[in-house]
Amino acid sequence: MTDTNDSSESTEDVDSQRADTGVDLTDTDSGSDEDDRRSTPGPDLDEVLLDDVESDNPDEASQGLFDDLLSGQPIFENKEVLRPSYTPRKLPHREEQINNMATILVTALRGDTPSNILIYGKTGTGKTASAKFVSDELESTSQKYEVPCEVEYINCEVTDTQYRVLAQLANKFIDENEAVIAEEIEELEDLRDRARTDPDVLADSEFTSVPDIEAEIESLEDERDSFDDVPMTGWPTDRVYSSFFDAVDHRERVVVIMLDEIDKLVEKSGDDTLYNLSRMNSELENSRVSIMGISNDLKFTDFLDPRVKSSLGEEEIVFPPYDANQLRDILEHRADVAFKEEALTDDVIPLCAAFAAQEHGDARRALDLLRTAGELAERDQTDVVEEDHVRQAQEKIELDRVVEVVRTLPQQSKIVLFAIILLEKQGVHNVNTGEAFNIYKRLCEEIDADVLTQRRVTDLISELDMLGIVNAAVVSKGRYGRTKEISLSVPIDETEAVLLSDSRLGDIEDAQPFVQARFDN
Ligand code: ADP
Ligand code: MG
Repeated sequence: MTDTNDSSESTEDVDSQRADTGVDLTDTDSGSDEDDRRSTPGPDLDEVLLDDVESDNPDEASQGLFDDLLSGQPIFENKEVLRPSYTPRKLPHREEQINNMATILVTALRGDTPSNILIYGKTGTGKTASAKFVSDELESTSQKYEVPCEVEYINCEVTDTQYRVLAQLANKFIDENEAVIAEEIEELEDLRDRARTDPDVLADSEFTSVPDIEAEIESLEDERDSFDDVPMTGWPTDRVYSSFFDAVDHRERVVVIMLDEIDKLVEKSGDDTLYNLSRMNSELENSRVSIMGISNDLKFTDFLDPRVKSSLGEEEIVFPPYDANQLRDILEHRADVAFKEEALTDDVIPLCAAFAAQEHGDARRALDLLRTAGELAERDQTDVVEEDHVRQAQEKIELDRVVEVVRTLPQQSKIVLFAIILLEKQGVHNVNTGEAFNIYKRLCEEIDADVLTQRRVTDLISELDMLGIVNAAVVSKGRYGRTKEISLSVPIDETEAVLLSDSRLGDIEDAQPFVQARFDN
């Protein structure tokens, strides 16, 4: 899971994770008819590989370490289509959103500036897949009709500062301008060469003599050399901005800039980038820029400058979560291509869909589950994926999530969690805050970490509770006031192993004496 730093979502994950898995498997008709299953599988790499293996000279052939594994692939036909990097050509249940985007962006194909668009929706609701689909269509249509319209996609989780966004845009258009100029020069050189042997060819051209052409070639070369690639760091931001500005305005075109995960950019570097991009059109002479922002966070515009907010949100499109039936459709389309025939029992897809529907209707989770279930079945060396593989896959993915959350906890939270684990391992159930704090303090002293106040440690415990790592219930102790009873909500051994892989905590060789001391006090 990549969204662990989005607190609102992690809380939800936790809720749905806790919700008892009383999954509804009632077989409502998902309406997938055979007509929808037109997707054709790509070339079968497995078979190609197998052919090669068999054609090898048997004398020099391997001892067969991999042969059995390779031939024993009864489950997957083409696993790639279940990976997040695969862009499906058909996106069921997103027709409305895709049409809305297209209706707004078609303006670009008429040479006008489309309204800016803001797209909202939780992770796994198909925003990126839909945006990429629309952008491919837009670019190919623009080539078909020879209208200058370009889409530039930027993932702001990776490109997360104003400098980097502007530099990436600048370099993209600089490269493009250079390529166009190089082509023009090539044509002129060709004309020049022909004109040298036969001056008549100039009759149809705008040139009257060979030196005329040479002068033009020279001026194009100067123009090409005037573009300076932007380095990935080091320039003042306004220089990067003007490089981009000049490069994009170099010729007539409409440019759609897709800023995916735009909330991450704003969170990390504020809204300057958006402010600068959104006011460009008033100064551009040849080109026009329109912005499509995509956000997982429904409230991120609260942090924007009001001018940016109103400009960016000219059009808004919402991607609602998928329900279990929709997820089932999506999975069925992919499974047709991904799995061998008869490799799935009937309840596999409905169960994946049901689990993922609990996880705020996340199609990514649904696909992960299906892929992981297939891999687990493969490991079991059976040729069918069964319901139980899906349940194991759910557990595995959940555990991977926990490991990731624990691994990326701040040091102090790790120490607090370690204290709770040590107490539980000692057989203490319903640890109270005071007990946890005492062990925490000793651990801090042992590894020379700052000791926080008990108040702060209580806060950290609440955070661990929100992340779903511990469960901390407030209980009343009558006239002694209130305390928290803490218990671990995650598998203890795996969690401890992750904590001990932290270089500082790993230094504590034998922690049991700290806990023992508690009983001696
Ligand atoms: P988001 O950007 O909203 O987080 P993505 O577009 O990355 O979500 O979708 C997550 C995964 O689910 C991707 O692998 C994508 O191909 C798949 N997916 C999402 N919606 C659909 C759909 N309607 N049909 C087919 N696949 C989908
Ligand atoms: Mg996305």
